[in-house]
Amino acid sequence: MQWYVAENNQPVGPLTQEAFDAKISAGTVLPETLVWNETMKAWAPYRTIQGPSGPASEPALLVPEPAAAETPASANCCECQRPFPMEDLVAYEGKFVCAACKDTFFQRVQEGVTLPGIYEYAGFWIRFAAKFIDGLILGVVNMVFSFMGGIMSAIMIQNSSDAAILVQLVLFVIQMTIQIAYATWFVGRYGRTPGKMACKLKIIRADGSPVSYSRACGRFFAEMLSGIILYIGYLMAAFDDEKRTLHDRICDTRVIRTDV
Ligand SMILES: [Zn+2]
Repeated sequence: MQWYVAENNQPVGPLTQEAFDAKISAGTVLPETLVWNETMKAWAPYRTIQGPSGPASEPALLVPEPAAAETPASANCCECQRPFPMEDLVAYEGKFVCAACKDTFFQRVQEGVTLPGIYEYAGFWIRFAAKFIDGLILGVVNMVFSFMGGIMSAIMIQNSSDAAILVQLVLFVIQMTIQIAYATWFVGRYGRTPGKMACKLKIIRADGSPVSYSRACGRFFAEMLSGIILYIGYLMAAFDDEKRTLHDRICDTRVIRTDV
């Protein structure tokens, strides 16, 4: 039997039974590690396929192969999620792809995009922590500008109050621009702001591909919307199986945990 193991969100395999057992002994495959072999319909944590007496420790001499271990008659395409008979699907590293989705799927594999469905989505509190760090960084920058603006306003208000208002307006535009540039550049370039770097989080598209600069910029404004409606847009993450906020839904993004 050929095994596949998810390591660092990347499928590793095919592995022989001996190689797979070696990984278990070495502790690389833990009870929570996602594994797959051709008898399984989908990736599952290793613990769910262990027998009560542990993994493959007792050869089943008298027990015939259970019916569930047979190749299923149909499976879902990993791209469009529609069910297809087995003979219409192409198998690749534990995933099945239908004829219509084949080209896009293998294109992505070539580009080294990680396979969907094996991410650890980041929850509300860790994202809140990342946001807090970003807030501190931007807060310091804004304070410097506010301080300079305050001095300028104080000088100008002696001549005309209109000039002082103008200074405040320019200040507001500068602060907005800094925030937009911060979100757009860091997310477009690295997929994460410094706050998310510190919390080991990353923003990706639903299919695992990176977020472009334009999408990162759009996401900044979508996020303002999440804040305007009493932060309900942020809280939506707590009730979503992929932990999406409102701005994640609008921009088709996900926030995942990473190892670095
Ligand atoms: Zn398909």
